[in-house]
Amino acid sequence: MKFNEFKYEHPDLDNYKMSVEKVLKSIGTDKSFDEELAAINKMFALTDELDTLYNLVSVRYSIDTRDAFYEKEMAFFDENLPALGEYDNLFNQRLLNSKNRTQLEQKLGSLIFKQAELSLKTFSPEIIPDLQEENKLSTEYSKLLASARIEFQGKTYNLSQIGPFKQDTNREVRKAAALATSNWMEENELEIDRIYDSLVQVRTKIAHKLGYENFVQLGYDRLGRTDYDHKNVKNYRDQIYSSLVPLVTELTSRKAKRIQIEEPKAYDLALSFLSGNPTPKGDMNELIQKAKEMYEEMSPETGEFWNFMVDNGLLDLDAKEGKMGGGYCTFIPEYSSPFIFSNFNGTAGDVDVLTHEAGHAFQVYSSKDNIPSYRWPTLEAAEIHSMSMEFLAWPWMNSFFQEDTDKYKFSHLAGALTFLPYGVAVDEFQHGVYENPELTPDDRKTLWRKIEKKYLPFKDYGEDSFLEKGTFWFRQSHIFSSPFYYIDYTLAQVVAFQYWIKSKESHKAALEEYKHLCSLGGSQSFVSLLNSAKLDNPFENGVVEKTIQPIKEYLASINDIEL
Ligand code: ZN
Repeated sequence: MKFNEFKYEHPDLDNYKMSVEKVLKSIGTDKSFDEELAAINKMFALTDELDTLYNLVSVRYSIDTRDAFYEKEMAFFDENLPALGEYDNLFNQRLLNSKNRTQLEQKLGSLIFKQAELSLKTFSPEIIPDLQEENKLSTEYSKLLASARIEFQGKTYNLSQIGPFKQDTNREVRKAAALATSNWMEENELEIDRIYDSLVQVRTKIAHKLGYENFVQLGYDRLGRTDYDHKNVKNYRDQIYSSLVPLVTELTSRKAKRIQIEEPKAYDLALSFLSGNPTPKGDMNELIQKAKEMYEEMSPETGEFWNFMVDNGLLDLDAKEGKMGGGYCTFIPEYSSPFIFSNFNGTAGDVDVLTHEAGHAFQVYSSKDNIPSYRWPTLEAAEIHSMSMEFLAWPWMNSFFQEDTDKYKFSHLAGALTFLPYGVAVDEFQHGVYENPELTPDDRKTLWRKIEKKYLPFKDYGEDSFLEKGTFWFRQSHIFSSPFYYIDYTLAQVVAFQYWIKSKESHKAALEEYKHLCSLGGSQSFVSLLNSAKLDNPFENGVVEKTIQPIKEYLASINDIEL
């Protein structure tokens, strides 16, 4: 069945609640193992049914926000879903009360119980008003940033539209675009300070009400991290500091030579090549066709997956009027179908959709028969599948980039390495902020600049006094809306590098291991998944250094000045 034939019917929530209440009566009570398991499976089916409807609405609404029907349905879900969270909470409580836990763990795995425990720790009806406040503040931040109107060269741009000017090959254009962005941020400084300060206060209040010392561990628990803590993360950041800071400093001076700038300023760093950044060759349909050839050649499983996506209309890739921005991959349970959404714009980012988002989609397709909470892993693990597929797709990149292939490969690896110190700086900043909630907005800026100088010593803001005082993080939305999430990208990147290394030795063997990892989905926690997939754990001493060594050698062997 094709995506546009997937049937949407307005959900009957009263009926849903009644069915859930009935099912819950058989869990965590005096029922036998068989009855309990049947009830749990029934609960999974009920949530899949609702999740299917929700996904159909949110995908169709994001494809055309002018569609009045789906706009109304979306508003219905936004209004009613939060209250249904109460039923998840009840399910978790009852699951943990089960007398048949040992047998259930044998059948369902133990992770679902750990997830239930964490989820109960992070919620209490007492914090509902604070959660609403937190959501409201987070929405205020996204709305404020989305409202940006930046005057530049006689035209008005939003924050993403001004992006390309920051990569312009003309230095004056880059500099002016950076200053124009800073000016807008500075005009809104007090408002952004107010929003973030309120977020820190309300999160700290929630943490205290739930019995946590501060928000740090609550942040970790909300992300479902069951097998590492802030000490492991600190040890990992230290490895990034000692191994990556010197390397990225060197890569930055190579870039400066390449783009012929003697003393590069922060606004010079988004440009990789004087001849411009690499671009894919061909229009959307040609790129989809190239992806088909790639996935069919790669393996029978990836070929079957990609053809399933294309044949069932599960890709909506072109930018068009009324469509939401950005890109994502989601899953529609009752049709066992992943869905990929994006806005192609002719940059290398289009190919990333066909590899990165397709990596997410391939993973969920591979674990589609898992129980709902095991279809996707936690976020640091989920990004392994997507980032690794970007590397496993390397042998086919010449068909996408043609004469730009070498440029693409160099900037792909150099960009991934360069990201790591920034990613951990964002994390260290948030630890500082939530461990010391009494800091003032100005103290936080000072803290950011100090951490930035530690991890990104080459960043020279020149005459941009606004960024110099420590405000670059204002534009990093994760800091506002998903605390402690950001480091996940860096952890996954270090793991994905291992697939780059493995695939140089044997692409076939690397792909087999990758497929196995994908099939596990979210049935295990992060570190267990690494062990099951024979991957080195980045929290362990020496793993970062060992992993980047072959990449360093590869980059050193490229004559990038010629690119
Ligand atoms: Zn991703």
